[in-house]
Amino acid sequence: MIILGIESSCDETAVAIVKDGKEILSSVVASQIDVHTEFGGVVPEVASRIHVENISICIEKALKEANMTMEQIDAIAVTKGPGLIGCLHVGVQAAKTLAFAFHKPLIPVHHLAGHIYANSLVVDLKYPLLALVVSGGNSELVYMKDEHSFEILGETQDDAIGEAYDKVARVLDLGYPGGPKIDQLAKQGEPIYSLPQPKTEGKYDFSFSGLKSGVLQFVKRKEKAHETFKMEDLAASFQETALNEIFSRVERVLKDYPDIQHFVVGGGVSANSRLREKVEELRQKYPKIEFTVPPMYCCTDNACMIAVAGEIANKVGRRGSADLSGDSSWAIQ
Ligand code: ATP
Ligand code: MG
Ligand code: FE
Repeated sequence: MIILGIESSCDETAVAIVKDGKEILSSVVASQIDVHTEFGGVVPEVASRIHVENISICIEKALKEANMTMEQIDAIAVTKGPGLIGCLHVGVQAAKTLAFAFHKPLIPVHHLAGHIYANSLVVDLKYPLLALVVSGGNSELVYMKDEHSFEILGETQDDAIGEAYDKVARVLDLGYPGGPKIDQLAKQGEPIYSLPQPKTEGKYDFSFSGLKSGVLQFVKRKEKAHETFKMEDLAASFQETALNEIFSRVERVLKDYPDIQHFVVGGGVSANSRLREKVEELRQKYPKIEFTVPPMYCCTDNACMIAVAGEIANKVGRRGSADLSGDSSWAIQ
């Protein structure tokens, strides 16, 4: 099947054409990062306006790059949620218009399912599977007994990990997005500073807001006492504490669910180099489980993953009708 995917849940307008859930015929991503950098984060109203400006251009570009016309497309997949409602609306309206005008099936897909299925662009997924979704808006551990079932075992009780990276970067005056900057700084530092350890109630849940405040308190304390500190060491200390929080929960799940065959990571934070090292460590420790971290191009928001999710949702006949609308808090399916 040839699916045209559309993604507009946050600050990337993306359109891709993917064949049989595996072969990327084209992938266009228009990032708004430069605009939002000025404000130190994504401004929802600004983001939706830019989606409106970009969406048609991205659709045309994706068709041109694939050397195709709309007639050759079999179905249209679009992110229904979760995300910023005004942003989702733009993608959903574009998808509905194309589906109606060219008489194509419309497949609503879940953004996080997209981040998980992005892995299937590089490897065949094995089930039961454990997915760690770590992005700007989400931190979740999802157990999948089969290709179509999602059980959320653990999730953040406050900030998402990417959000914590971005906020800590703001405290350190590093600019937005903060993840890649902290990643680079941390490589030159050592995790020598002790920061508050997150406290959570649920066995597999995460928490990052206390840690984020801990970094702010640390900087204030040092400034007040006129003491210096190494930014590199603080970045490394934050990163190590945040990732230990995540990986201690991952290991709990791996121990409690011995049937897991495959561990995959999705979302923008999976670009993190220390996170990738930690997955390598797990691979050594659990040789019977397959471990996959997708390549950078499919970690952050893109539409290939939406097309792939569309291919999978199509197998169970999922369809969107003319009254399809975005849903900012849609449950994973
Ligand atoms: P969601 O997918 O939940 O809707 P989003 O679209 O904002 O949120 P992504 O585009 O998947 O999220 O990821 C962006 C996030 O990834 C940002 O918070 C960014 O700081 C973080 N990030 C990107 N690269 C790195 C890195 N190398 N290390 C840590 N974090 C990173
Ligand atoms: Mg994004
Ligand atoms: Fe995302």
